Amino acid sequence: MFKACRTCGALVKRDAEVCPVCGGTSFSDDWDGIVIILDPKESYVARILGREKAYIYAIRVGGYTA
Ligand SMILES: [Zn+2]
Repeated sequence: MFKACRTCGALVKRDAEVCPVCGGTSFSDDWDGIVIILDPKESYVARILGREKAYIYAIRVGGYTA
C-alpha cells in the first residue's frame, strides 16, 4: 500500500518519510489513480501533468488534482 505526496503526487511506501521526487514530507492517504512516468522527455502524459521525473504518481491527492 502507498501514500501520496501532497506536493507532487508521487506514490511512496507507507514507511517513507521524505518524498524521493520533490523532498516533501507531507503525505496523504486520500488519493486515486496511478500514472507511471517512465520517460518524462518522451511522455505525452508527463507533459500534460507537468511531471519531470520518472516515477509513479497518483492522479488525484486529497484536494489536489493533477
Ligand atoms: Zn513529492
